[in-house]
Amino acid sequence: MTTKKKLFIVSIAALLVILLLAWKNEQNAVKQKPLTQEQQQAKTPQEVLLRLKAGNQRFIEENTKEANFSNIIHASKGAQFPAAIILSCIDSRVPPEIVFDQALGNIFVSRVAGSVLNEDAIAGMEYSTHVIGAKLIVIMGHEDCGAIESACKGVKLGHITQLLAKITPAITQSQVEMPNASCAEARYIDLITKNNVLDVMKEIPQQSDIIRQDIADGKVMIVGAIYHVKNGNVEFLT
Ligand SMILES: [Zn+2]
Repeated sequence: MTTKKKLFIVSIAALLVILLLAWKNEQNAVKQKPLTQEQQQAKTPQEVLLRLKAGNQRFIEENTKEANFSNIIHASKGAQFPAAIILSCIDSRVPPEIVFDQALGNIFVSRVAGSVLNEDAIAGMEYSTHVIGAKLIVIMGHEDCGAIESACKGVKLGHITQLLAKITPAITQSQVEMPNASCAEARYIDLITKNNVLDVMKEIPQQSDIIRQDIADGKVMIVGAIYHVKNGNVEFLT
């Protein structure tokens, strides 16, 4: 091989390395960063909702931004200014940070089987919104929920019994909407899940003076959602 050819090959290799480094920098540049207080406060509840919808779209398209954890750990170590709190089921297929493609520091998450409400969860919502400044509360049920199905079947077992009792109003409502339906029917379980989400959305402002006032002042919004385990899509109910 002539010196000229060797020089040409080395030049091409060097160019490829430079292009690769530039591409890596570009990838790093689009990574999500934790919100600052200014960014959190500048957003309306509707804008926060759009952020979550966009994140879920990235998740479905396998185009997620979340990857460089060391940068995010460093950037979020001093404080947190999440824009939303998500109440979700404990189901292993429904981790809100992943399905909404949100960086460390950007959403609060409260998880209880069946996405049912309890006083401690309400306290977490009051803290997230009124104290820290989050704008959006999302109540997220999901398809194929074991807690909802167990409640439908009247399962009684240890502490599970009292948790499932909280789903009874949603079952009663669903019986009216789908008389004679069976707990073996997926669409009936999905209906109970949806009615449970709607019940929790109604209960929060009834039980929390703080959140009721913040909603009236336009500072906070509550929305319902269903996560579809079949395709990763979060369907918002409002
Ligand atoms: Zn569940």
